Amino acid sequence: MSQTLAIIKPDATGNGKAGKILAHLEDEGFTVRAIRMVRLTRAQAEAFYEVHRGRPFYEELVEFMTSGPCIPLALEADDAVSRLREVIGATDPTEAEEGTIRKLYAESKGRNAIHASDSDENAARETSFFFPEAERIGSGR
Ligand code: GDP
Repeated sequence: MSQTLAIIKPDATGNGKAGKILAHLEDEGFTVRAIRMVRLTRAQAEAFYEVHRGRPFYEELVEFMTSGPCIPLALEADDAVSRLREVIGATDPTEAEEGTIRKLYAESKGRNAIHASDSDENAARETSFFFPEAERIGSGR
């Protein structure tokens, strides 16, 4: 078992799809190990997406991620990082596979319903960004 970090984004919390997305994740076999609702500050959103600073969409991304509540989730499954990337689908919902979360719930490439870590290293960094170690309910602890 391994863990990854998902964020239900402000478009989905704002249009009433957060519960459906959480149910979809559980139906796909992920166990929720930590969950909270946060309104990111500009500084937090900039820090979280630091890797994208300088990209043409960076400002729009920071604006969007601070526009409403986010729900970060620490999720556990076998091969959690790659499995979750499959389940969420391509960044642009018009390119996402049928049945993926972004195909079902995303509005556009920017307002795309959910974030998922893209490597084990980033999963660890992004999980600790939202959840101090002591708050996480790991298996076997
Ligand atoms: P992800 O790993 O599939 O989330 O995609 P990336 O790491 O490439 O981009 C991070 C996030 O930036 C995406 O989920 C989108 O919310 C946003 N983003 C990426 N590309 C674009 C773009 O071309 N336009 C806009 N508006 N947002 C984008």
